[in-house]
Amino acid sequence: MDLAPRVAANLVSVTDRVAAAAARSGRTPADIRLVAVSKTFGVDYVEAAVSAGLRELGENKVQEAARKKAATLERGITWHFIGHLQSNKARVAAETFDWIHSVDSVSLLRRLDRAATDLHRSLNVLVQVDLAGEATKHGGSVAEVQRVIDAASSCESVAVRGLMVLPPWSPDPEQTRPFFRQLRQLRDQCATTTGAGLQLDQLSMGMSHDFEVAIEEGATIVRVGTALFGPRPVAQA
Ligand SMILES: *Cc1c(COP(=O)(O)O)cnc(C)c1O
Repeated sequence: MDLAPRVAANLVSVTDRVAAAAARSGRTPADIRLVAVSKTFGVDYVEAAVSAGLRELGENKVQEAARKKAATLERGITWHFIGHLQSNKARVAAETFDWIHSVDSVSLLRRLDRAATDLHRSLNVLVQVDLAGEATKHGGSVAEVQRVIDAASSCESVAVRGLMVLPPWSPDPEQTRPFFRQLRQLRDQCATTTGAGLQLDQLSMGMSHDFEVAIEEGATIVRVGTALFGPRPVAQA
């Protein structure tokens, strides 16, 4: 099948699965944002996503996303950064993205805020949490997450909207359920200690193979690549 109809057909099936998971947990699909992860795919995939009706795209490399954004400026896309953000790329990231899911330190938060203020942009950010304590994964410790949230009220252009987790990969989504549940509990706990004006209403959790479980546990943003676009091309060395 051609690319655009294939992505459109995949979107129908993903949307059905989102709706079923929402129904199972007494939630409405309108409260769940589907971010289509186009990392490693070309602009043709971004265009296919747009023609299928998607307007929220996720990328994990700043330069790669900036290129795709430049090629699709008229499409009204909201860009999400879901990868690890090096502090020297904070400015380009603040210029390119609308949402950044991977803030894991107070210093990165402040850098993004300064950049966004300079650029007269407003940014939504999520704090990425390392719930598994994995040295190889990015994300802040629970203590650092609390410090980032405390620092949020002094930001001018950045709004801290919630938390994000990327649990250790397991083929069995039930294995990741406890991480999703923990993220929601941590968010609830943080929400009780934050000042007025900070709305921690977003939980970014769940990918192609486990987004249904994530929705059952309260995800408001799911990040889905493979289930929409097919297997990713093998990375070039
Ligand atoms: C690649 C990626 C995704 C999407 O993964 P799929 O399994 O293809 O849906 C989601 N979140 C993050 C952080 C990613 O890097």
